[in-house]
Amino acid sequence: MTDNRQHVFEIIRDRGPLRLVDIAQWTGLGQTTVRDVVKSLREVEAITQAETEQRGTGRPSLLYRITATLGNVVGVQFEPGSVRAAIANLGLEIVDQRERAVSAAEDAASALDAAAEMVDAMIGAKRIQRDRILGVAMAMGAPVDAIAGTVRSTTRLSSWIGLQPAAELEKRLGLPADVGNDATMAGLAESVVGAAKGRANVFYAKLSAAIGAGIVIDGRPYQGFAGTAGEFAHLVADRTGALCFCGNRGCLWTVIGGERILRELEQTTGPSAHQLQNMQLSPLDDRLEKVIELAEGGDLACQAMIREVGASAGHALVNVCNLLNPSTIVVGGTLSKAADMLLDPLRATVMRYTRHLSRRGPALDDREVQIVQAGLDKWSEVLGASAMALRSANPVIRQRLLSLIDET
Ligand SMILES: [Zn+2]
Repeated sequence: MTDNRQHVFEIIRDRGPLRLVDIAQWTGLGQTTVRDVVKSLREVEAITQAETEQRGTGRPSLLYRITATLGNVVGVQFEPGSVRAAIANLGLEIVDQRERAVSAAEDAASALDAAAEMVDAMIGAKRIQRDRILGVAMAMGAPVDAIAGTVRSTTRLSSWIGLQPAAELEKRLGLPADVGNDATMAGLAESVVGAAKGRANVFYAKLSAAIGAGIVIDGRPYQGFAGTAGEFAHLVADRTGALCFCGNRGCLWTVIGGERILRELEQTTGPSAHQLQNMQLSPLDDRLEKVIELAEGGDLACQAMIREVGASAGHALVNVCNLLNPSTIVVGGTLSKAADMLLDPLRATVMRYTRHLSRRGPALDDREVQIVQAGLDKWSEVLGASAMALRSANPVIRQRLLSLIDET
């Protein structure tokens, strides 16, 4: 019985809200067993009858989701110049959120201290019981070795290399902590509460000065065996192309990376080139926003560049579709602000080269990948980190979650 309770509870967590018939399908359990388990989980208020869903003309079905007030999770994000933290309930509604400017790139210890202070302050302000907090997940803009838990080589957060961020934060907060890649977290947030809400198989492509990706499979973030899945920037786009900083040739980074986009536009002659040259000391993402602004103002070179980036990203995403068959691709990051100017050529490329995938079944339209613009703001990574804490495979965090559904 206990195993069935855990199984049903975790399926509702990962894929909910769900109908009884969906729970039976995803768990492989019989309808009668599912009904009994759902009843016992409702008795301890671990799950809640959410809303009803009308499909066709029949009777509306009842949907079940995790009880939002059952506990709390904490999400933290470290960026080169700031730390963000939020406490959410298990329905991923933010209870409190804070942001502080810290030079996190150069001073990891101060950034970790700041994060712990912010979380402690929120716990105090909202009078949250510490034993109701399942754990903390941290979003890092750097590759983290999943086995050793250490930050690997990175240019963005140099003082973190070799550090074990989760262990460091656990020491400061007395709460179990997990760590993961920020694009993975943003992708998870989009699949749970953002533009791909309710979709369990999602690929999130972040097209900014930094290129990254988050992969969600069956409602759970996929980080690979060593934690480096989603290195979208280093997909080989052109085997004989330009040399990449990673040592390979023709990576997607060399084709649609911010530096390449700006380098080429600055070499054109015209008013836009001049304006971009004048911003050479500004952060790359600010300069990319300027490219979008110029394109929207009618600049032909900037328009052509954004369309070209859309088509090139589309070609890379064709490979992703062939490999992973996501139901939804969410495009986020600075360049996604160009909206249809970027997304139209991107969609056209993906649709043209993935048509064979939707020809395998009868319902053609239902099987085509949906490509949407990201729906969440700069808090998406923190929200995703909270969602990650709720889905954590960390045995301590998972035990804290399961203890909340124990029959008393
Ligand atoms: Zn590379």
